[in-house]
Amino acid sequence: MRIGYGWDSHEFQPGIPLRIGGVTLPHSRGLGGHSDGDVLLHALTDALLGAVAAPDIGSLFPPSDPKWKGADSAVFLREAVRRVQRTGYALANMDATLILAAPKIGPHAAAIRGNVAKLLGLPADCIGLKAKTPEGIGTDNAAIAHAVVLLQREKP
Ligand SMILES: [Zn+2]
Repeated sequence: MRIGYGWDSHEFQPGIPLRIGGVTLPHSRGLGGHSDGDVLLHALTDALLGAVAAPDIGSLFPPSDPKWKGADSAVFLREAVRRVQRTGYALANMDATLILAAPKIGPHAAAIRGNVAKLLGLPADCIGLKAKTPEGIGTDNAAIAHAVVLLQREKP
């Protein structure tokens, strides 16, 4: 078995849609930066890449490359899934924690888990998702995601 871990953060900015887990959430601000700023898919992509010791998301999809500006982060995740499959591993489950002051994730958690399950080809009961507010750490203008994945060897 193998374990992978990923972390990401993005700053909230006005005038852009908020994408988390490939789902557009109703909110006054979105996450700026690399691609569509999907902090959860980026952390998850890095967890998968890390589990098979592949280069990280920033190396494979450099933020400096205009090609990735505004890109759908599902593209990065699919490439990470392909790299996992090529090494002979299968994804067993994932677990993630989002840390953000707003919006509340609870009402959207089922939609996010469903979409991530679809992207990963896993049942929704293999997708862990928690959301916390950033108490006392001064990151109210950012969204942070931590993700872990477990891989099992598919072929002996
Ligand atoms: Zn990111």
